[in-house]
Formats: sequence, C-alpha cells, structure tokens
Amino acid sequence: MAVTAGIKEYQLLIDGQFVPAASGETFETLNPTTNEVIGRVARAGKEDVDRAVRAARRAFDDGPWGRMTPNERARRLRRVAEIMRERQEELARLETLNCGKIIVESRMDVASAANCFEYYANLAGQIWGETIPMNGPLLDYTVREPYGVCGQIIPWNFPILMAAWKLAPALAAGNTVVLKPASYTPITALLLGQICLEADIPEGVVNVLPGPGNEVGAAICEHPMVDKIAFTGETETGRQILRLSAGTIKKVSLELGGKSPNIVFPDANLEEAVNGSLFAIFSNAGQRCTARTRLFLHESIHDRFMDDFLAKAGKIRIGDPLDDSTQMGPLVSRRQCERVLSFVERARSEGAELRLGGKRPEKADLQRGNFVEPTIFDLVRNDMSIAREEVFGPVLSVIPFRDEEEVVALANDTIYGLAATIWTSDVKRAHRLAARIRAGNISINYPVVNPPEAPFGGFKQSGIGRELSRHALDLYTQVKNVVVGLSEEVFDWYGRWPGGR
Ligand code: NDP
Repeated sequence: MAVTAGIKEYQLLIDGQFVPAASGETFETLNPTTNEVIGRVARAGKEDVDRAVRAARRAFDDGPWGRMTPNERARRLRRVAEIMRERQEELARLETLNCGKIIVESRMDVASAANCFEYYANLAGQIWGETIPMNGPLLDYTVREPYGVCGQIIPWNFPILMAAWKLAPALAAGNTVVLKPASYTPITALLLGQICLEADIPEGVVNVLPGPGNEVGAAICEHPMVDKIAFTGETETGRQILRLSAGTIKKVSLELGGKSPNIVFPDANLEEAVNGSLFAIFSNAGQRCTARTRLFLHESIHDRFMDDFLAKAGKIRIGDPLDDSTQMGPLVSRRQCERVLSFVERARSEGAELRLGGKRPEKADLQRGNFVEPTIFDLVRNDMSIAREEVFGPVLSVIPFRDEEEVVALANDTIYGLAATIWTSDVKRAHRLAARIRAGNISINYPVVNPPEAPFGGFKQSGIGRELSRHALDLYTQVKNVVVGLSEEVFDWYGRWPGGR
C-alpha cells in the first residue's frame, strides 16, 4: 500500500495479489471527523468481480485449501487472530480514522474480530454429519460440505468486525470468499485480507473488492460461479440482493435492519436500566442494527427515569474519536448526518417532543466532521416515522406504556424483529416477555452483546439465517446424504417380473 502526500493508496485483493482495478479507476475514502481524504482506493468493477470470483473458484476447486485438514485450516485462522492482536492498535486507529467510531470501541471491535477467528478455528474440526437408522439393510449418513465460493457484502458500521463475522465461519468450513466492504469504509477489510495472506491462507481464498454496491455487489450476486451470498445492511438492499440472487438460485443469508425495543418496568434496578439504555442507543453513535431505538418506559417511572437519563445523556463527551476520553464520535458520512437530521425534522413535525440534542454540536472544532448530538424524543407514538424507520444515528424515541399487554403489542408492532431488551427484577415477567417478543436476540437486564459463541440474527424482515455460534456453520455448509447398500442379496429390480414383464 503506497503513500503519496499523506494519502495512502489501497488496491484490490485478487488471487493473493494487491492489484489496481481493471479500469484503473480509484475513489477517495474520508475521515468522518474532518471529511479529509485519507486514502485513495482502487474502485472495482464487473471485470474485477469476474477475476476475483474465478480466482476464488480455482482456489476452491483445485487449490490446496480444499485439501487441507481441518487442523491445517484452524492453525491459519488462529494465526489471523494472533496477528490481529499483535496489530490491534494500528487496526483500531485505522478503523477510527475511516468510520469515526471512538478508539475505545475500535479496540473492542478488533479484539472481538480476533476472538471470532479463534472461535471458528476451534470449530473447524467439529463440522460433522449424522448417521441415520434405516428400515432396511442400508447404512445412511450425512456429511456437511462447504458451498464453494461465497460472496460476502458488508456495511460500514462495524467494518472489521463484520468482515470477521463473515470470513471466519466461511473459511473454517472450507469455503473461499469474495468480500465487498462498504464504500465508506474499505480500509480495514483490505488489511484483514493482507493478514489472511500473512497467516498463510492460500492465494485466491480471500479476495477483497471495494467498489459501489449497485455495481460490484450486484455483480457478485449475479455471478454464476458464486454459490452463496451473505449480506449485512439495510432491509431494502436485502430485498434487492434476494432478487439479484434469484436468477442462479443462490443460497442467501441476510442480516438486516432493526427497530429494537428496550422495555423498562417499575421493578427494574433503575440505575442499571438508565446506564444500559444509554449504551444500547448511543454506543457507536447509534449506528448499530441492534440499537435499542424505542425506549418503552412504564408511566409510573417515566419522569424519574427521564431526569437521570437526560442528565447523563447530556454529559456524553462528543469529540475527536482518536482521543481516549471521547465518548461519541461523528457519523460515518455527511450524507448519513443529513439523513439523521431529516428524521429529526420529521419527528418534530409529527409532534414528538424533543428533550435533548436534535442538531449538530456547536463547538468550532467539530464543524468539519459529521457530528450529531445525542438526541432524545419523548412522548413518541409508535406509529410516528421516528418509531418505525431505521434512523441509524444517535436518536432515541421514548414511548410511555401502561401495562405488559400494551407494551408487548407495541414492541411487536414493527416490520423488524432483530433484538429487544427487558429491564425487570421479576423473573417470571422477564421470561414471559422473552417468549412473547418476536425478535432473534433478547437481553434481560443487560444492554447489547454479541459474542461469537451466541447466535445472532433476525425474525421477520430483520433477516434470514443466524450468524455467529455453531449456527453460522449451517450458513456456510450444505448437507450431503450418502446411502450404502449392505445386503448380500443381489438387487435385481427387473428380474422381479416373471417372463420379463
Ligand atoms: P446498504 O444496505 O446500502 O449497504 C450495505 C452494503 O451493501 C454495502 O457494502 C453496499 O455497498 C452494498 N450494496 C448497496 N446496494 C447494493 C446492491 N444493489 N447490491 C449489492 N450490494 C449493495 O446500506 P448503506 O450503507 O447505504 O446505509 C443506508 C442505511 O442502511 C443506513 O442509514 C441504515 O439505516 C442502514 N444500515 C443498516 C445496517 C445494518 O446492519 N442493519 C448496516 C448499515 C446500514 P456501498 O457501500 O458501495 O453502497
């Protein structure tokens, strides 16, 4: 990766080599804190997709990857984790420079990404099938085999972590990959590709192609040599991915949007609920698909809760995300900043009561960046756009409720079903609600956590399939059934008919 006048140049990773785009085109990648250019990145196009897919195909069909034992694959994945840990600070700084998340979160993301590789290294040798008792002299067993070439398309909110969530299970299962990072945040995915090479993962197994989604992402979805697509991003893009993949009947897994409820009952430990609810909405400046964007407060504690909550939210330190003491950085792009502020305007015009923020901070040194203050709307109705659409910024809707029946109905009244949190000290109520809320990830008296050990994914229009955990191995393997005849008797179907009838 060359450096010219402080601006780094990044190339595509195809077949083990960093190369320019076939067209020679590049695009600029920015630092959201200042909107200065920090890198010039090769802009992949259709021809590059074809080159990368063919490389991945060769690596799968003819390369050493498919012939390696699970232990040999696992050693390489473990090495990826080790290198990531050795280079944690460098990767975290680049992540912060490119996506704006605070350095403390970036360090956590790099550590979680390394854990993810280690977790799947440990599972590489545990991908097994079953033997099935048959009603006759037959032996029947299944094996789980990799799909082949996986196209993986990821968003900008957790660039290195999403790359790890996608790559690690796919590689552990023996697939090869063409990974497309989001155009805003291509840098750390390219570095991860380089780390995979350093870890002795063979050429062509991991290919990384930054470039526009509607061109590069679409070409990956349509390419006949790609067997499987895994996507994380907006629900509307997920619909397009399904349509694009339909022509070649690709296996598709989707991790999409959310509008997750966060429900506080009067018997909750309120200090814990306030602190947890702050993290659940404002960490990563609200740019997380599992952000608890709808805070349902029981009417009897509404005022008490809000006093403490607003006071603490008002003290969140916004600033340079590379500074260790900063608690909230900028949004990923100027466009995202404007999008979030347009939701704020709509919420105001629909009658929600703005209690905090709702604007860009006034401090002079923040004017060049894409900052938005922590924003809290109170007395929101669940049918307002602010409570229905994915904002993807530090914007919270507070909705008071009267009783359990009402809050379950409101929590479930959404097209999404990604996550939910319940704050209560009543064990029966906690589990009753966990069962009734239609979402893939429920947390009780805890805000948001997605370790590699636990499955992750959505009900309803929040997705298809479960990432992380052993379940992710189902996304990256297919079942083959094998039946073996055991009888000594000669099988003679046509001889059954006397006279050759
Ligand atoms: P997208 O869903 O558009 O982008 C996610 C990824 O898909 C990116 O790599 C993007 O490429 C790619 N992509 C875009 N269009 C296509 C296509 N037609 N075919 C194949 N791939 C495609 O999200 P955005 O980044 O545009 O963000 C818009 C909104 O999406 C956010 O405001 C937020 O509400 C939501 N979002 C949700 C996420 C989640 O995890 N649920 C994550 C990120 C965003 P490129 O970057 O080049 O456009």
